[in-house]
Amino acid sequence: MNPRRSSLQWRFGSAVAGLLLLMLILTLALWFRQTHDERETVEIARQSTHALLLQQLRDSGQAQVRQLADALTNPLYYFDLEDVGDQARDALRSPGVAYVLVYDPEGRILHDGSGDIPAYGRPMRDALAGKVVAAKAMLVQQTGAMLDVSSPIFVGDERLGGVRIGYSMDAAAQSEEQTLLGLRERLSSVNRISLLWLLAMCAGLGVVCILGAVALQRMLVGPIQALADAAREIEQGNFTAPIPATRRDDELGDLTRAFGHMRDSVARHDRDMRRAAYSDALTGLANRLAFRTALDQRLRELHGTGGQLALLFCDLDDFKSINDTLGHEAGDDVLVQTASRIEQAVNTIGAVGALVARLGGDEFVILLEPTPGEAMDEIATRLAEALVQNLASPLLLHGRRLVLGTSVGVAIFPDDAVNASQLMKCGDIAMYQAKFAGKNCYRFYSRSVDEDAMRRLRLEQDLRGAWDRGELSVVYQPIYRTHDRALMGAEALLRWAHPVEGAISPDVFVPVAEQSGLIDEIGERVLRTACTEAADWPRLADGSRPFVSVNVSGRQLRNVGLFAQVVEALQLSQLPADRLHLEVTETAVIRDVAHAADLLSRLRNLGVRVWLDDFGTGYSSLNHLRRVQVDGLKIDRSFIVDLLDDAGDLALTSATMAMAHSLGIIVVAEGVEQRGQYDLLRERQGDYVQGFWLSEPLAAADFTRLLG
Ligand code: C2E
Ligand code: CA
Ligand code: CA
Repeated sequence: MNPRRSSLQWRFGSAVAGLLLLMLILTLALWFRQTHDERETVEIARQSTHALLLQQLRDSGQAQVRQLADALTNPLYYFDLEDVGDQARDALRSPGVAYVLVYDPEGRILHDGSGDIPAYGRPMRDALAGKVVAAKAMLVQQTGAMLDVSSPIFVGDERLGGVRIGYSMDAAAQSEEQTLLGLRERLSSVNRISLLWLLAMCAGLGVVCILGAVALQRMLVGPIQALADAAREIEQGNFTAPIPATRRDDELGDLTRAFGHMRDSVARHDRDMRRAAYSDALTGLANRLAFRTALDQRLRELHGTGGQLALLFCDLDDFKSINDTLGHEAGDDVLVQTASRIEQAVNTIGAVGALVARLGGDEFVILLEPTPGEAMDEIATRLAEALVQNLASPLLLHGRRLVLGTSVGVAIFPDDAVNASQLMKCGDIAMYQAKFAGKNCYRFYSRSVDEDAMRRLRLEQDLRGAWDRGELSVVYQPIYRTHDRALMGAEALLRWAHPVEGAISPDVFVPVAEQSGLIDEIGERVLRTACTEAADWPRLADGSRPFVSVNVSGRQLRNVGLFAQVVEALQLSQLPADRLHLEVTETAVIRDVAHAADLLSRLRNLGVRVWLDDFGTGYSSLNHLRRVQVDGLKIDRSFIVDLLDDAGDLALTSATMAMAHSLGIIVVAEGVEQRGQYDLLRERQGDYVQGFWLSEPLAAADFTRLLG
């Protein structure tokens, strides 16, 4: 039993001990009382016996003295000493008689019952004698252990003397003692018996108490203690703590069962909380916290063992546009499907013990363990390939097919990083490297491109809010009709005046904006600005109105909201649709030809013209032109540069122009830097030209001036 002072058992034990002690004290008090009573009783008995015996002695003494006095009257009258002697001796023989004295009127001894009467004639000198001699009637006196009864003897008025008998009280005392002894024995035996009864009662009570304590322990304290122990275990998080099984149908049984239910529900709650804390609610995968915990633990285990781990960072390409255009529900749907595809990919390559987690947004991460007989980077490569391939196949979203790429970054422990944060950072950078490499591919972390990636990350940060800070602007590069060099319109080109680094080329920051999704917002602003400014441009010499040509990036093209943005920009600016040209690159179109074809044809139905930019640089062929209807082609600058020297380029350009014309498509040559190039293009009947030889891009005001 637990000796804690406040325990129920302890309290009950002390109460029982206290009760027993009280009982003992009471018993003792009772016993003392009884012995005291016994003494008292004996004393009272002694006194009454004593008084009784004394009275008896008196009475019988007086009777004997009276009788003896009567019997002595005659002998004394006749002074018959012999007769006196006989009487005295007779009396002396009676039991209890110590002395018999017969005396004359002067108190002198006449006889004492002895043979030769040695005291004859001597006056009585004892202390009682005076009163005896003087007494006129029977007198009883008592000294110490002696009762003295005397009586004068008269004949008529003449006093003849008297007689005196001394009774020894020893005999009385003896019989008194005898009587009391019996009484005392009787009383103490009664006393003993009642003491025994009391002790037996105490013992019985003690036994009852002990039995009570045992029963209390078994029925109450034990089960409660077991519950308290279980509660302590549960408090420490051990939900398997045993709870005594019980079939009792009393309150404690109810309590125990209720406790069991409570433990189960707390355990369930705890499990749910843990699951919620460690898993991603949307996909059911591990979350960032669970992943970091697992990663830290694996790295601790691997510390110093030379073991390897691979971390694969996956980021959906252009996920933001889905959220923006189809809504968050669709976005969630995509994430759930992506999660299951990632798990599928992990299963396909047979990766054992791989942990898949969603870090947030469209970022997924996989922790890969080495498989025996295969190098870490080999398995990681297989998984990365499987991921890119699996995630590139079209997703079905509300009956729509949607193609999303994924960029995967791979970092290896301990080759690339020695701790968790470093490893995560390397994986992240590798993922960006994959994005910069054109997306929808994987890259292993490489230190050499690290700086480049960091620079791009910095640029991305700087680019955020750059428009609102007035760092971004739109310039216009004039586009001329080839055969008469008449100004026809302009291409809107974005400029970034970085507060620290100065002018940054669009070739550098547009891909960053594109990869980060910033292009969605920036592109829309370029579109609005270009439309608004173009709407105010004055008429041309021939009375027609100049067009404005706006570049649309691949990401914008895939953005389902582009169509609405164009409609809105036209409405806001009141620019007629046929004065807006959109430049799309062939690589962007090829990504999802079906979607691009649909979008572009809808735009063309509005009246907007579509030009295919950078024509010739992609791996596509004119073949695409059959599916994607465009109004014009912009032959890439790289073909124009060598036009005068490279016969191949000239042939290709000529063929392109001929073929385009046959399809009713106009041809724009960009990057014309020399007169010779221009002449050649005019000779080959190129429709429009654009280049530094004609004009560099101009600020909006300068271009308006040029027009007017
Ligand atoms: P791009 O669409 O091919 O634009 C033409 C680029 O060629 C412009 O460079 C222009 O300044 C340059 N250029 C024009 N004539 C000549 C020439 O005679 N010689 C040489 N060497 N270059 C010439 P810029 O402005 O630096 O733009 C670079 C690229 O950035 C553009 O190529 C376009 O792809 C992208 N870009 C620019 N502005 C925007 C924009 O508003 N939105 C989008 N999505 N992309 C843009
Ligand atoms: Ca362009
Ligand atoms: Ca171009």
